[in-house]
Amino acid sequence: MNKKILIILFAALVCVAFVLGIVIFVVSVGESHNTPKPTEDPYAETPEPTGEQATAEPSFTEEPTATPDPGPLAGLIIGIDPGHQRRGNSEKEPCAPWDASKNAQVNNGTMKAKTTSGTSGKFTNVDEYVVTLDISLKIKAHLEALGATVVMTRETADVDLSNIDRAEICNKANCHIVLRIHCNGADNPAVNGVEAWIRGNGDGSDEYKALGAYEKKLAEALLTYYCEATGATKRNVNTSDNYTGLNWSTVPSIIIECGFMSNEEEDNLLVSPDYQEKIATGIANWAVAYSGTLLNR
Ligand SMILES: [Zn+2]
Repeated sequence: MNKKILIILFAALVCVAFVLGIVIFVVSVGESHNTPKPTEDPYAETPEPTGEQATAEPSFTEEPTATPDPGPLAGLIIGIDPGHQRRGNSEKEPCAPWDASKNAQVNNGTMKAKTTSGTSGKFTNVDEYVVTLDISLKIKAHLEALGATVVMTRETADVDLSNIDRAEICNKANCHIVLRIHCNGADNPAVNGVEAWIRGNGDGSDEYKALGAYEKKLAEALLTYYCEATGATKRNVNTSDNYTGLNWSTVPSIIIECGFMSNEEEDNLLVSPDYQEKIATGIANWAVAYSGTLLNR
């Protein structure tokens, strides 16, 4: 009798174990279906970014604390002097800081008007001081967008700044380069194109001449970039001891004569915001290409 009970109990245990086994199997199969493994294709190619996508920052890799790109002109201090002002100042100031007897070229002995109101468009009638400020503000926007620090001598027409004042603003700011923005005029209406002016022999010192040679290299390149962006005719880089703004500049300084307001086509272009943007683009391209030169002088 005991033996019979044992056999029944054993059989019951086997049944229970069998049923449990089936239950565990069914549950585990069910789970494996509910949580599929992520499919990873080892041969899947990462698409190469193209065009716009190539420059786009992939947002998923950005840390919330990531610092923005300072730009290719970071660290560069660029002075911009928009030539002239609404009212000229005919009071005189010394054209050069050195003894004029050392240099026969210096204008009127040593004295020159503090500042003039400049030329004006023969066809548009727009004044030079208006055009130079419009162009300068566009150059400023381009350079700042690329990370440069821009020092403006004026941002309005109603100032009274002599050419020595303008030079000293940029000297004090330790500008790596100063761009003096002007427009040209000539008796012959056919004359056109962009040209630059840099310092002459000045006080005759080796240091002064070296600064002039450095400016010449930069100005030549600037005209090339300028003409590439605008399609303007490239004229010369000229030297002179007659510009107060250059003579008093202790930092590299270039006068850019952006075009002739006495030429009908160029006069119309110089007042056009689209053309002014092209000028700014050309100068910004030049600044990026020469930022290393400018920072390491
Ligand atoms: Zn001028």
